[in-house]
Amino acid sequence: MPAPDILRTPAAMLAWSKAAQREGHTIGFVPTMGALHKGHVTLVERARAENTKVVVSVYVNPTQFDNPEDLKKYPRTFDTDRALLEKAGADAIYAPDDAAMYDPEARTWVEVGELADALCGLSRPGHFRGVCTVVTKLLSTVRPDRAYFGQKDYQQLRIIEVVARDLNLGCAIVPCPIVREADGLACSSRNVRLTPQHRQEAVWLSKVLRDAKAKIGAGEREGLKLAGEMAEQLEAHTSGEIDYVAVVDALNFADLQKIEGEVLLALAVKFGSVRLIDNERVSVPVKP
Ligand code: AMP
Repeated sequence: MPAPDILRTPAAMLAWSKAAQREGHTIGFVPTMGALHKGHVTLVERARAENTKVVVSVYVNPTQFDNPEDLKKYPRTFDTDRALLEKAGADAIYAPDDAAMYDPEARTWVEVGELADALCGLSRPGHFRGVCTVVTKLLSTVRPDRAYFGQKDYQQLRIIEVVARDLNLGCAIVPCPIVREADGLACSSRNVRLTPQHRQEAVWLSKVLRDAKAKIGAGEREGLKLAGEMAEQLEAHTSGEIDYVAVVDALNFADLQKIEGEVLLALAVKFGSVRLIDNERVSVPVKP
């Protein structure tokens, strides 16, 4: 594979994309914060399969971090990322620095309303405002035909679908399945920061979700009861601090008293300063 072009400014990125489009290419785009793992790689491979050009952004966006320590400690591995992206067949890497990304006079934010106030938004104030703003900026610079997002960050994916629809961003948002380690832990750039003990305990996030899904399969329909049992299981098997355990409507994140329709089982647990999230989707036929 030829080495990907590296673009460092919005103007350079926009010029690259316009040239590619003039030549008749379709552009698939994968936004990331770097520290790439096999979850990211599957998104790049999907983009590669469905488009003639692939752009990956590597940018740790400060405006979506509510916790300065998390921002400081977020892993940055650009040289390894670049090698991985070359192997995966990316044509361009968009990697601006903060000064290139945010004008010092910038005052425009993209907000999505109450969808951003549920789940992760409750304990991460301003997080989705930062995500919506940076993704809108990225999409208007890269101008892709399709943008690929992981279902691991389910709330983010749903919110970006809504932003793309509401602002007519003209790009298809493509959801991609969660990629997991062999023991079930969802791949995450933050996993490398877990202590060995926390890494072992973290497997319970996916186990609890799988068990809950099985209970729904066996007929459980009480949302609160199921969420309570999931929290109990996490407390029994991990030393992590539960941020939330939720059984909610997968489209609007409203709590579900009765489990039916498109359901999202989601949880967030903090191991020291490392906050992990995971989720499962379940479709439950609605009984009249
Ligand atoms: P991040 O670099 O963590 O911001 O993630 C960039 C993109 O990769 C987002 O769309 C994530 O949802 C996606 N992603 C991260 N981890 C995974 C995973 N384990 N499986 C699938 N997609 C993922």
